[in-house]
Amino acid sequence: MGIVSKGAKCNVDGCDKEGARSLNTTKVENAGFRVVSVGKKTVLCKEHYKEWKKESKDDRDLERARFDKF
Ligand SMILES: [Zn+2]
Repeated sequence: MGIVSKGAKCNVDGCDKEGARSLNTTKVENAGFRVVSVGKKTVLCKEHYKEWKKESKDDRDLERARFDKF
């Protein structure tokens, strides 16, 4: 939460919106985002966070589908 409250901008490449959430950089990159963040945390704006949630939800659904076969 720390960096977001300081008014950080979204770290997605080419995006200049106000940051809404900070996430683990690896998690964001795994969802297919190009980030310009250098730290372990990446700041996402509302829109990109929504997109990220959608991406990672798809992953979870796939995993659940695999487990459901047992
Ligand atoms: Zn953004």
